[in-house]
Amino acid sequence: MKSLNSVDAAVVKANSAFHAAKQADRQTRAAWLKAVGAALAEHRDELVPLAMSESHLPEARLKGELTRTIFQLNLLATEAERGEFLDATIDHADPEWGMGPRPDLRRINVPMGVIGVFGASNFPFAFSVIGGDSAAALAGGNAVVHKIHSAHRELGWKTAEIVKSALSAAGAPDGLFETIEGREEGTELVKHPLVKAVGFTGSVGGGRALYDVAASRPNPIPFYGELGSLNPVVITERAWDERGSDILAGFAGSVTMGVGQFCTKPGLVFAPLAAEETVNAELPDLLAQQALGPGMLTEGIRDSFLSAFESVKSVDNVETVVGAGTQNPPSPGLLQIKAADVEAARQVLETEMFGPAAVIIYYASQAELLQVLELLEGQLTGTLQTVDGENPAEVISILTEKCGRLLRNGWPTGVTVSYAQNHGGPYPSSTIQSTSVGTAAVGRFLRPVAFQDFEQADLPVELQDGNPAKVYRRVDGEWTID
Ligand code: NAP
Repeated sequence: MKSLNSVDAAVVKANSAFHAAKQADRQTRAAWLKAVGAALAEHRDELVPLAMSESHLPEARLKGELTRTIFQLNLLATEAERGEFLDATIDHADPEWGMGPRPDLRRINVPMGVIGVFGASNFPFAFSVIGGDSAAALAGGNAVVHKIHSAHRELGWKTAEIVKSALSAAGAPDGLFETIEGREEGTELVKHPLVKAVGFTGSVGGGRALYDVAASRPNPIPFYGELGSLNPVVITERAWDERGSDILAGFAGSVTMGVGQFCTKPGLVFAPLAAEETVNAELPDLLAQQALGPGMLTEGIRDSFLSAFESVKSVDNVETVVGAGTQNPPSPGLLQIKAADVEAARQVLETEMFGPAAVIIYYASQAELLQVLELLEGQLTGTLQTVDGENPAEVISILTEKCGRLLRNGWPTGVTVSYAQNHGGPYPSSTIQSTSVGTAAVGRFLRPVAFQDFEQADLPVELQDGNPAKVYRRVDGEWTID
C-alpha cells in the first residue's frame, strides 16, 4: 500500500507532465494513445488471464472488453487528431453587431490539468486503469492520476506498468499517467489542490462520498460520477400481446448477463397485469437456464447483492417469484409488485440490486403506468418494448426526462463506443449529466477560454486566421473547415 505522501508525489509529477505535454500537438498526443492501445494488444495474453483470476469474469467477455478498450483508445486518438472537441469559434470584430460594436473574440476548449480517475470493479479494462475516463482525459491533453481498484489490484498495477512504458517509449513526458492505491489515498486525490476534475465509475454510495469531498474543497471541482441505475423496461400491452414470450427470453438473457453485474442491467420491468400468469409460468425456468459464469466479482459484491435483494423483498406488498440463491454466483431472483402499491414502496424504485435480480411491476392501466414512471429517479437507460406504429408518446416523454439513453425493442446491457453514444443520466445515475462513453466524453475534461483582440501569433493555432490546423470551426456563426 502506498503512503499518503505518494498521492502528492503522483499529482505533482502528473502536473509537471501536463505542462510539458502542452508543447505536443494533437497529432503527437494521438500517437501516444495509439501506442498505449498497441501495447495493450501486445500484452493481451498476459492481461486477460490476470483479469480472469481477479474478477471471475469469463475469458470471452474479458477478451471482448480488452478489444473495446483498445478500440476506445484509437477512436479517441482520432478524435484528438480531428480537434472538433475544441469547439473552436471565431467572431471577427464587427462594428455593426446588433447590440453594439463587437471586438474580435475567439474561443477554444483547453485541457484542465491533472484528472483523478476511479474505475469500477465490473469492468477491469473498459472502465478502469486506461478505460474511457483516462482515455478521454489524455485525448483532451490532460494528465491522469488513476486510483487502482482493490477488486483487481494486480491487473491494475500490471496495466499501469504497460501504459507508462508505452507512453514513455512514444515520447510522452514522464508522469503523464500516474497511479495510486487505497481508499484514503483516493480521497486525498480528490482533495488535492492540483487535481482539476475527477472521473469516477462505481457505486452510488462510493461516488456520492467522493462527490461530497470534491464539492466541499475550498475550490470545488467537477466530479463526473457514473453511478448505479435500475434501467426500467416498459412492455406495452400491444408488445406483450404480440411477442410476450420472446420479450421474457430476451429479458432473462440481459438480466443475468455478467451475473447481473452491469450498471445497465434491466432491474425494473413494467408489464401489463395480463402478463402475470405467463411471467410466473415461464420466467423462472428461463432464468434458471441462463449460464452465470464462475462467480461474482468479489465476495463483498455478492454480500451486497444478497442484502439489497433481501431489503427489496421485505418491502410491503413485494412478492417473491423466485428467491436469489445464496451460493456464488447466486441463482437469479425475481420479485413483483403491483403498480398501485409502488408509491408506498419507494425502495423498490431506489435500490440497485447489483447482481442477477429484478422487480416486475404490473400496471392495470396506461394511467397507472404513467403515474408510477413519474416516480422513477434518474437512470442511465430506459427501454421500450413496443410494436411498429404504436408511438407511445407519453411514455417516451417521461423516459426522456428520466434517462440518458432510450432503447426501443432491445436490451440495455450493451453500450457501444461511438460518436452519438450517451452513457450518463440524471442523478443518481450520474453526478453531472454527461457521457462517460464515446467521443463526447472528452469534453468533460476541457474548459472554454475566450481570447479578445489577440495578435495572431499569440493565439492557439486552431484559432489563427487561415485555419492552419485545419479543424472545423464556427466562424461568424457558420461552421467551416476553411
Ligand atoms: P465502488 O465500490 O463504488 O468502487 C469504485 C471505486 O471507488 C473504488 O476504487 C473504491 O475503492 C472507491 N470507493 C468506494 N467507496 C469509497 C469511499 N466511501 N471513499 C473513497 N473511495 C471509495 O463500485 P464498484 O463495486 O467498483 O462497482 C460497482 C458499481 O458501479 C455498481 O453500482 C454499478 O452499477 C456501478 N457502475 C456504474 C457504471 C456506469 O457507467 N454508470 C459502470 C460500471 C459500474 P476500493 O478499491 O477500496 O473499493
